[in-house]
Amino acid sequence: MESDEDQHGSEALEGSLSALQLEDTTEIEEVGDLSTSQLDTSAVGYPHDQSFQVLELPRGDLDSLPPISRSLYEETTECERKGWERRHQGQEEQTDDDRWTFEQENKRQALYRALFYPRSVIPKPDDDVDYIRASELLVEKIEEENRGQSFRDCETSERPAIFHGVFMHEDVCSRADVLEYFGNGEWGVVKIKTSKTSFGDNDAYESLAFPVYVVKHCGIKVTKAAAVYANRDFQIQMNEAAFFKRDDLTDVIFRGGVLQVLEGDQNAPKSIAHVQSVTSRAEPPPKIVVPSCKNCSFFQDCHARKLRHSIWELIRLRPERFEELKKITLEIEEIPSSFKLSQTNMIVKQSVITNSPQIKEQQLQEVTFNASVTTLSSSFS
Ligand code: SF4
Repeated sequence: MESDEDQHGSEALEGSLSALQLEDTTEIEEVGDLSTSQLDTSAVGYPHDQSFQVLELPRGDLDSLPPISRSLYEETTECERKGWERRHQGQEEQTDDDRWTFEQENKRQALYRALFYPRSVIPKPDDDVDYIRASELLVEKIEEENRGQSFRDCETSERPAIFHGVFMHEDVCSRADVLEYFGNGEWGVVKIKTSKTSFGDNDAYESLAFPVYVVKHCGIKVTKAAAVYANRDFQIQMNEAAFFKRDDLTDVIFRGGVLQVLEGDQNAPKSIAHVQSVTSRAEPPPKIVVPSCKNCSFFQDCHARKLRHSIWELIRLRPERFEELKKITLEIEEIPSSFKLSQTNMIVKQSVITNSPQIKEQQLQEVTFNASVTTLSSSFS
């Protein structure tokens, strides 16, 4: 196994603000913001980085079930059946959104690495050592080479670090964006986000606690956790380092109960033990009926196939009304007249019952009026 310290220079080249393709550098792209993206459509799969692929590969000794990744954990805590289906049926095909996200993550991480971690390494597997073992060997190597040293109060640039290490405990696998060494056998996990917000603003802390859990349960002493994100006030005239902000989240993760949730026993619904249990059963967990089913890739199999026109077709039905309605029926045509619907949804129901399109009379009048105005104005031009 070789480390890539010697390749750090060329990767640093990629790690520059220009690599982030920011046309207006006051505007930092966020995940999902494809309108400002210049997606490299020539990239296939997970560009540049084997660590993403490792997470998706089935492991031979797991009865061919793929490992539990963070995304599978999140899907399972959202709906246990969804997690089960995903684990048994495999990942969805990547979308342009996914590929754009991976590209953005890679570019931000390359830049962060170039700016702050000149002593860092990336695992390099070879014919004898797979990616996960290569990550473990780097941990051992760094601890051995820095025995007796402390980097606790040092600048990040002085700390040895591993970028993109992938670790596996039982059937749970996670990638640590950065694993930085604090000396005396202690490590910190850093999550590099593509958004302009830290955890707690929009995202759950679980996505940082997840790699902490896996690395810790691999026997590595993790005592710190941090999030890095884009500085929303960044301007092009500033130093590149100002592009990033960093929050120390050690207290929240270790003492705020977040890690403890993941470490709960099998009966705790958000624990990793529970996710392991429900996704490895022979039979899928029961279906649930929630508004978000509509956007789930298993919607057809779970619900839609058995229904003529389901209540998910109703327009802007409030979640509390959805909860009430699902106890009565899932078929639009069976909605009793005593259940009050908005005017728009009354039209939807009427269309379903009569099997014909319905147009609001008022809208029809507006369309007719607009068409008349257009005809009149063109006859005068
Ligand atoms: S459609 Fe609903 S019940 Fe089925 S897997 Fe998706 S979220 Fe779960």
